[in-house]
Amino acid sequence: MSTIEHWIDGELTAGSGDRRGHVYNPATGQQQHEVVLGSAEDVDAAVTSARIAFQTWSQASLSKRTKIMFNFRELVNANVKQLAEIISDEHGKVLSDAAGEVQRGLEVIEFACGIPELLKGSYSDQASTGVDVFSFREPLGVCVGITPFNFPAMVPMWMYPVAIACGNTFVLKPSERDPSASTFVAGLLKQAGLPDGVFNVVHGDKVAVDALLHHADVAAVSFVGSTPIARYIHEQANAHGKRVQALGGAKNHAIVLPDADLDFAAGHLTAAAFGSAGERCMAISAAVAVGAAGDALVDLVSRKAGDVVVGSGRDPASEMGPVVTAAAKQRIEGLIDSGERQGAKVTVDGRGLRVPGYEDGFFVGPTVLDQVGTEMDVYREEIFGPVLSVVRADTADAAIDLINSNPYGNGTAIFTNSGEAARRFQRGVHVGMIGINVPIPVPMAYYSFGGWKNSLFGDKHIHGPEGVSFYTRGKVVTSRWPHVSGPSDASLHFPTAS
Ligand code: NAD
Repeated sequence: MSTIEHWIDGELTAGSGDRRGHVYNPATGQQQHEVVLGSAEDVDAAVTSARIAFQTWSQASLSKRTKIMFNFRELVNANVKQLAEIISDEHGKVLSDAAGEVQRGLEVIEFACGIPELLKGSYSDQASTGVDVFSFREPLGVCVGITPFNFPAMVPMWMYPVAIACGNTFVLKPSERDPSASTFVAGLLKQAGLPDGVFNVVHGDKVAVDALLHHADVAAVSFVGSTPIARYIHEQANAHGKRVQALGGAKNHAIVLPDADLDFAAGHLTAAAFGSAGERCMAISAAVAVGAAGDALVDLVSRKAGDVVVGSGRDPASEMGPVVTAAAKQRIEGLIDSGERQGAKVTVDGRGLRVPGYEDGFFVGPTVLDQVGTEMDVYREEIFGPVLSVVRADTADAAIDLINSNPYGNGTAIFTNSGEAARRFQRGVHVGMIGINVPIPVPMAYYSFGGWKNSLFGDKHIHGPEGVSFYTRGKVVTSRWPHVSGPSDASLHFPTAS
């Protein structure tokens, strides 16, 4: 069993702490690594390295930063397979899904390769007589990323490529459940020519997170994870004077109108609910079947859910892997139990699934619950597992009201053939990311990703233009180069343009 170490100042280190975490292979249910859990001293070492590196990295030319980003892009692209294997072994998701996650992360790196264009300022010649005004943006300093288990490569890539391209240095605290992808990527960044100290990884749990939140030299914090922790990070970072964006959990609804192609909708719902075993913040976990769509939709989705091939992420035949931990399996199955007890109809039951050859794996099969009520725990909680709840609504407006009553506002979708209904939905729904006949509307890297309500605390969405804005601060310069022999027009009144 190997030990996964921190990456500080360009090299691996076990750090000073003696606490260790267990990293499992969810398909076999066996522990495969241990991970060092960082202490406040380890955090201080990483932040100090990043603070010192900022002095030179913030002065590196746009040209130099761009070249390194391009090199990094090439290296990630050449290592997609290896990264996908690392992700699959610790997270459990199937290899094709893991490769897809790396691909979506690559798109953010490609976006960051365009940093010279993204950081162009503005210039107003002769704003007043003999006076010009211009603006530009500068990096913040040491930026921190705290990330969840469900996208161990992609979610950190939403953050550090943009932060680093903007001239910041970075300390990443990845999930302690699947930490290896971050250490692997650190090696690629070094190979790409990134100076030591610009990117650091501190593994750990609450101890490391709190040390980062309290550290005086940390300028900004990006967080992605569950809502209670997102709220905590937002409060703590604010209280310690840091810029913060904290993305939280989700309960994503898809409305299916009776005029939709129901087979198309059912296929996409099945993929969106059970892909990655439902462990996606943009997974569809609630289908809102409107009027006559209901029974036919439940029938189609149930048949398709029953056909999903569940197995080890390494088996090319598998369409869905295990969930991340034994505790997650127990929690998900407990919520299905509660749904049944509270009156939902279980049309497909994934509890107690055993995969031959992987009897100790953390598997839960696709599960469909019909006749789910909004008061049930299975509806109120974010399950984060392969469970699709079907809620019935009489009209499209009632379905929109239902979504708007939910405390989360990450993603949502509508399946319909009516442009009018789709437009009413896109304008009326209180959610940050919307799909029209697209079940998982994750914005491309050159837009920004983020939800509303309890799905995001802070003002800025992540990556894209809002990412560049988050990782920089603006300066506006008003400048005059007077003619040496001209008369002075100095006056004690408040300056106005002339
Ligand atoms: P989590 O909140 O348990 O952990 C996220 C990070 O916070 C980890 O690095 C973890 O070590 C740290 N952490 C956990 N408990 C902490 C505590 N008490 N104090 C300080 N730090 C703590 O989330 P998870 O289980 O790893 O990931 C799943 C969650 O992330 C789901 O709720 C999912 O919806 C959400 N998520 C949201 C998005 C989004 O874009 N909104 C994307 C991916 C995942």
